[in-house]
Amino acid sequence: MSVKITDFETWEYAHDDAPGGSHGGTLDPVTVMYSQNQDGSYNHNFMNVPCPFDGCGSVSTWPVGGGADAVLGQQLFVTKTQSDGCPCGQIAAGRSDGVPESHVRLNCNRMDGPGRWQLDDQPAVQAQAMERAAPEQQAKPVQFQTVYQETDGLIVGLEPAGGVGNDLKVAVFHDQEEYDNLMRYDPAYVSADKRHIVGTPQ
Ligand SMILES: [Zn+2]
Ligand SMILES: [Zn+2]
Repeated sequence: MSVKITDFETWEYAHDDAPGGSHGGTLDPVTVMYSQNQDGSYNHNFMNVPCPFDGCGSVSTWPVGGGADAVLGQQLFVTKTQSDGCPCGQIAAGRSDGVPESHVRLNCNRMDGPGRWQLDDQPAVQAQAMERAAPEQQAKPVQFQTVYQETDGLIVGLEPAGGVGNDLKVAVFHDQEEYDNLMRYDPAYVSADKRHIVGTPQ
């Protein structure tokens, strides 16, 4: 986690724990790539950030949950997904509406659970710690929005912070069980009656 992007406009980076002392500068975002699986396909849950400093050669792999720095790590995925799209094929490149972020947020929650997302104040579902809170606080209802493809119901995002375009729709759920289904099934789909989240297209 040591090579981190600190400015996503200029792609300034810092490599604080480099052997021989910290260094930094700017890097070319084209060199930042999703990690590859054994079969050569790209994995949308991990991203490699190579340090461009002369002679360094370090590569940091960031998880979509954000790893050692949740804000910078999650922003890295959002920025790359906006510009490059997602290698899973669900998000097209160059999308500037709320969809790329909602996709990263869904992947983040699947990896690290509720409460991990740091780019928005409102968690989709309260973290498990709330179970130990006073009863009146537990009463806060579960509510979350999913972004899905109208064609087959495939859910591509969670809690969009902006518009979702004409190709996608938003479905709202109020049930912890449906949230659990969204985490359990990957891919997950909105059911034909739009009331449930299921593991196979209907
Ligand atoms: Zn370095
Ligand atoms: Zn993806």
